[in-house]
Amino acid sequence: MFESVLIANRGEIACRIIKTAKRLGMRAIAVHSHADAEALFVQMADEAYDIGPAPAADSYLRIDRIIHAALRSGAQCIHPGYGFLSERAEFAEVCAENGIVFIGPPASAIKAMGLKDAAKSLAAQAGVPIVPGYHGAKQDPEFLRQKAYEIGYPVLIKAVAGGGGKGMKRVDKVTDFEAALASAQREAQSAFGDPRVLVEKYVLSPRHVEIQIFADRHGGVVHLHERDCSLQRRHQKVIEEAPAPGMTPEMREIMGRAAVEAARAVDYVGAGTVEFIADGREGLRPDRFYFMEMNTRLQVEHPVTEAITGLDLVELQFRVAAGEPLPFTQAEVPLEGHAVEARLYAEDPEKGFLPSTGRLWALEFPEDFGIRVDSGVEAGDEVTPYYDPMIAKIIARGADRAEALDRLSKALSETVVAGPRTNAAFLKRLVDAHEFRAGDFDTGFINLNLERLGAVERPLDPLSVAAGALALVRRDHARVERSGRAAYAGDPGPWWADDGFQLVGKRRHGLPLVVDGERVEGLLEWDAEGPSFELPGHTVEPGEVEALVVEAGEAMLVIAEGRQTRVAIYDPSAIDVEHLDHDGAIKAPMHGKLVALFVEQEERVEKGARIAVVEAMKMEHVLLAPADGVVSEIAAAVGDQVAEGARLVVVKQEGEAE
Ligand code: ADP
Repeated sequence: MFESVLIANRGEIACRIIKTAKRLGMRAIAVHSHADAEALFVQMADEAYDIGPAPAADSYLRIDRIIHAALRSGAQCIHPGYGFLSERAEFAEVCAENGIVFIGPPASAIKAMGLKDAAKSLAAQAGVPIVPGYHGAKQDPEFLRQKAYEIGYPVLIKAVAGGGGKGMKRVDKVTDFEAALASAQREAQSAFGDPRVLVEKYVLSPRHVEIQIFADRHGGVVHLHERDCSLQRRHQKVIEEAPAPGMTPEMREIMGRAAVEAARAVDYVGAGTVEFIADGREGLRPDRFYFMEMNTRLQVEHPVTEAITGLDLVELQFRVAAGEPLPFTQAEVPLEGHAVEARLYAEDPEKGFLPSTGRLWALEFPEDFGIRVDSGVEAGDEVTPYYDPMIAKIIARGADRAEALDRLSKALSETVVAGPRTNAAFLKRLVDAHEFRAGDFDTGFINLNLERLGAVERPLDPLSVAAGALALVRRDHARVERSGRAAYAGDPGPWWADDGFQLVGKRRHGLPLVVDGERVEGLLEWDAEGPSFELPGHTVEPGEVEALVVEAGEAMLVIAEGRQTRVAIYDPSAIDVEHLDHDGAIKAPMHGKLVALFVEQEERVEKGARIAVVEAMKMEHVLLAPADGVVSEIAAAVGDQVAEGARLVVVKQEGEAE
């Protein structure tokens, strides 16, 4: 067994790997960017090396610097985690050249499975069913459109080099094909440096069912059952579970065997996942599942498999990399109970799931029986725009599916995150949705139910605003009182009373607030019971408000039913008025790059028209016209880096004065 490991990754997965490494008595060596110098995984490691600036391209993707750190620290092996360099054949090769064991498959297997088109051909040769489509080399739009027509709509355009749902577009009709192709190619070029795509049949009522496989260096290959990852948003997994609802032992055996064959076809070693898509219109059926791709690494959702098998997959990775044979046969792989994982993200479901960065003012997870939380952050940390905004994975285990889901639901409602907005409430609604409970869902479920799941813009919650306002007032009183008591050591007398007593009627005063970036005029009224709060059209009595309030610098963060409202006193000198106006300005929803601009100065546009595309975190966000009007200002050019909130285009409504 190894004595030391360098973890070429960050965040929760680095923490997760370090835990197992330490349990096995290994020295854990971290590498980190400048931005992660204080991160939890760096604290947990025995040693840490700074490998460069925050952008991943300058640190976590720098093979040279990581190898240098490995050589300096004497690391015997490198675990790449998932993402970053985990599926880069070149990295595996360079490790080998330097006498360091790469915890993963041979470079040849990574290459063989790395491109979706080649992987599909390989799978087909191995007798594994694949989705009908065009996986060839020709890329001209006219030709691909013809192929799409032959395949029959709906089709799916996918980046050949794809991953994480990037560069993937569903197209329902021929008139949309060209625009979708261009967008997929742009995304593919920017995310993978390779614009090539393939076109395949869009499988109806699709269920994503994947098989975890494990192979040793002695020809042993087994599968560790399936995971169902059908709850997805924009082709990204949101909730994963095992076993798959509706899976039968016969079907598991057939899919498991297909996955093992795919792995054998590339002489696989280590942990891998073979992803299938199943046509779920009539449940899972042996003649209706197709190979999609193989991920040649540990998956984000591996804890679900650990929960039902009792295995530690990272330990198993180390053991097979060290040359040990698999310690069990296929028939001996345990399967007990049910497990489900939810990915808790710093993102705002009410704003199209945009990543939400910033300081974590509060962070608390439940510690219940059957609950496992894998996280890489602590209260006080920043969620930065540089990396994936996942805060934690919450995994629940139960004797059966209902118990696992109940536990997860409870855990989600007990999770506290203040600062960045999160999808916690959204996840809870998802876990509680009766169709999901009944096993009646496919990959389109989230998209079809956004409103029910709370993923639509909603008005301010007056109770939360009141709770925040009253907390601000109380804090100010406490401050005044503290300074008063400091000045007058004895009884301060009536001058420091804070009951709002005055001789003429009740005391009322306006309280100008900024709530989630919007100006709100509040009104405070004082009587003997204390202050009550009024918003235009809504009076809130003291005691009516039940919410968690977290102090965040000058602001208060109010969390009610998983929804956060930020309340601050309006300070004209501190606020960027640009962010508050409603004058038709279309602003960058986040830090990113302007990749397309569809309008010109003075152009007339209709509400909902496509105005621009901002690419951020390797995803494209289409910005639409907020109302009918005329483009009165274009403030950025294609190719510009734009800051969150930056004005890009202004659409003046018709009839509006200049
Ligand atoms: P990536 O590598 O970018 O994650 P995948 O090929 O793994 O892309 O596909 C991601 C998801 O997209 C799948 O889980 C599935 O939900 C959906 N998907 C992929 N191929 C198809 C298809 N042919 N028909 C319908 N949905 C598909």
